[in-house]
Amino acid sequence: MTAEPRGKPAPPAVPWDIRRVYLDAAAASSPMARRVAETLPGVPRIVLEPGASPPELAPDELPAKGKNVLYLKEYKGRFLRPCPGTRRYYCCGYQIVHIGENCPMDCSYCILKAYFRDNVLKVWANQEDQFRALHEAFGADRSRRFRVGTGEFTDSLALESVTGHTRALLDFLKDYDNVVLELKSKKADLSWLDAVSRPDRVLSAWSLNAPEFSRLEEGGVSSLTQRLQAAKTCAQAGLGVCLHFDPIAHFPGWKAGYGEAVDMIFDYLKPEDVVYVSLGSFRYLPELGARMRREGRMPGYMAGEFVTGLDGKTRLLRSLRVPQLRFIAERLSARGLARKTYLCMESGEVWRDVFGRAPDGLGDPGGLAAHLRALAFDRG
Ligand code: SF4
Repeated sequence: MTAEPRGKPAPPAVPWDIRRVYLDAAAASSPMARRVAETLPGVPRIVLEPGASPPELAPDELPAKGKNVLYLKEYKGRFLRPCPGTRRYYCCGYQIVHIGENCPMDCSYCILKAYFRDNVLKVWANQEDQFRALHEAFGADRSRRFRVGTGEFTDSLALESVTGHTRALLDFLKDYDNVVLELKSKKADLSWLDAVSRPDRVLSAWSLNAPEFSRLEEGGVSSLTQRLQAAKTCAQAGLGVCLHFDPIAHFPGWKAGYGEAVDMIFDYLKPEDVVYVSLGSFRYLPELGARMRREGRMPGYMAGEFVTGLDGKTRLLRSLRVPQLRFIAERLSARGLARKTYLCMESGEVWRDVFGRAPDGLGDPGGLAAHLRALAFDRG
């Protein structure tokens, strides 16, 4: 190893190797643009003419992962929207606070590769417009409870060290007792934690998987132990913890791998720290398969037996996925999490195969969505 010359500390690494920042003219003087200028001091910033988009990068500018351009956009679409579920399967009723698109990490199975064609990291910089829209929804009837999250079209925390988006959102939400915010991530960044003034209204959510699968298929992420350590820190600060096993993939040794992952949870967390756990079997849109073939990677877990589901997604055969879901659910149940475990986008038949009941039998009017809302708000 070569020592750094004395008096010349190494310059701080640029987060995610971001090489260029584009800004819509209307967002160029926003608080977020100022924060990004501070966190990425040496990175070129280009202000776009109204209506213009960041140009495609030349092939020789693209790094291996291809996600090094940040675009601070004046977003004009819907800031609050329902999760893109389907009526054919039980949906958890989560609502998305839309903060941006794409993710700097690189998971082989990432559904965003099917949703978005480009690799540009987009963040909505007009947070004042976002807060106005959220106030219209959350402030209209304070007796109506919302369970919302930012981790649907991007990772909730991956760009937090650059944009400070979550800190600003937490500050806005402190006045809304009727909203619980779920922050879902594979990046153990807790730089926002000191901005939480209502720990009973914030859920820190972590995606988990079998350790070896995570090591092979999730690029640029924090390790499982780092995520669980971060979850423990959040629990100690009074936040609820949510865990998401998604995607549950079928590969040789899956039982040992998912068993190990479940057991790891309890090295860090007590059952009462956990608000809920979701189980989602691996499923994908045809566009993801096409893109993976173009990129020349077709991981082994995609070679199993699949069918096309009622939502148009390709999913594992029921005879393969039910034993996996049941195995993980039973292991969680043995640790006291039976009522806190649910299935992501599955039919009543699969629910009954796994739990012996469907969500309508959860005992709360409104089934799964009401059950999860109650768990999120009334942690007692
Ligand atoms: S962390 Fe989530 S959003 Fe990011 S690449 Fe992985 S699956 Fe996609």
